[in-house]
Amino acid sequence: EVRVRFAPSPTGFLHLGGLRTALYNYIFAKKYGGTFILRLEDTDQSRLVPGAAESIEDMLEWAGIPPDESPRRGGPLGPYLQSQRLDLYNQIARELVECDHGYYCFCSPQRLELLKREALRAGETPRYDNRCRHLRADQVQEMLAKGAPHVIRFRLEASGEPFQDLIFGWNHHEVAQVEGDPVVIKADGFPTYHLANVVDDHFMEISHVLRGSEWLISTAKHLLMYRALGWQPPAFGHLPLLTNPNGSKLSKRQGDIFIENFQKEAVLPEALLDFTTNCGSGFTTNRNGRRLEEMISEFNPSKITTHSALLDLEKLPEFNRIHLQQRIEDEQKCNALIKDLQQQIQQVYAAEIHNQEVLEEDYIRRVLHLRKGHITSLRELLRPNYSYLWVRPSFSSHQVAALTKEAPLIASLVLRLLEERGEELSVDQLSKDLKRLTEQTKATKYREVMKLLRLVLSGLQQGPSVAEMMVSLGPAEIRHRFQKLLL
Ligand code: GLU
Repeated sequence: EVRVRFAPSPTGFLHLGGLRTALYNYIFAKKYGGTFILRLEDTDQSRLVPGAAESIEDMLEWAGIPPDESPRRGGPLGPYLQSQRLDLYNQIARELVECDHGYYCFCSPQRLELLKREALRAGETPRYDNRCRHLRADQVQEMLAKGAPHVIRFRLEASGEPFQDLIFGWNHHEVAQVEGDPVVIKADGFPTYHLANVVDDHFMEISHVLRGSEWLISTAKHLLMYRALGWQPPAFGHLPLLTNPNGSKLSKRQGDIFIENFQKEAVLPEALLDFTTNCGSGFTTNRNGRRLEEMISEFNPSKITTHSALLDLEKLPEFNRIHLQQRIEDEQKCNALIKDLQQQIQQVYAAEIHNQEVLEEDYIRRVLHLRKGHITSLRELLRPNYSYLWVRPSFSSHQVAALTKEAPLIASLVLRLLEERGEELSVDQLSKDLKRLTEQTKATKYREVMKLLRLVLSGLQQGPSVAEMMVSLGPAEIRHRFQKLLL
């Protein structure tokens, strides 16, 4: 049975890197009929960020990749919050001590600090000198009886065995030579990441660990713990890092990679998912516009590459454009977009709206279908260059006079054309009609006629084609806008 987990620390809000890790886990679970678990690793109490835990789960739900088991949803192998599992970690740590794979360490913070400084002065990497490994049992008992502050350390074997990573292949790290014995239970009784992570993956029956490649080196240490505890380890796959286009570390400083931010900016979650996997491989074909169901069916773990994934945020609008188009083409999703837009139009334009028909579903649906593939976000339609869709434009008689002396004639030609065409307008038909219409003016060229029409319809000099503007506005509204030229 496939059971995978996303195990963030709530020391910050969910960002693109985390979302991507969660997504690969989700896809993997769904592809193989497994379970996707969210576990919050909140053992470093000093670094907790208020609200982050709640927000991480909210964001997974918003993104459309909700966990099957989680702090909020519960599940058979919970709790899913590490701070609620302290007894378990302490029990396992004591077991490590009993089988001599762990030991109590009473070294004071001052001594450790001194060791560190000496090492740095000698140009060496600081490492614990494993002094407490050699305490006798009676010494330990005496210290414990006295209530002396202590931690529990894991006794690192001389060598870790090579292991095969699902993505990076064979790996070997001589952990013991680099570090001293790591702490597994801190002085405050909380576990460190390494112990809690291994214990939980075991008791939550995780089959595959898919996590960022920054944890690759820790895996050797984790495997030693599995061996010491006599547990079967899960399979490990490390996902390449996400970086900026120039290869530098993804910066969280500007806050622009946090998922809440994309939500605020009205980025579509499916566009964000497509964007984060597009650069990260895992699929046989490279294409934009992949939806979650397609990711699941097309996912091929052996196609995940080891080189880091370059993330170019400037490409995100393009992904949003494609996925917005897909939503517009799906009737149900389009209805939701319409509701959304109705509210926003009212908020932005409220009292300026002269014609309540612009708030009707059919009107908005027509606009969306005409503009799909052009707009990268729904919000674009609320900008001034699209205001003509919702409110009547203003322009001056000077502007009209500067274009042509034949404005009243052209207006009457437009009105006559509308009578001929009836209620159903089409962009193709109108484009031809407008060419012909120009032939009936005396002194105004096609270009000027179009400029005039555009001005009257939108008050602007640029925008969608005149024919498209007419189709979106509809005959009644066009009539209204042209009538004043007749006077
Ligand atoms: N808590 C770790 C993190 O924040 C989990 C790493 C892992 O998945 O093992 O990324």
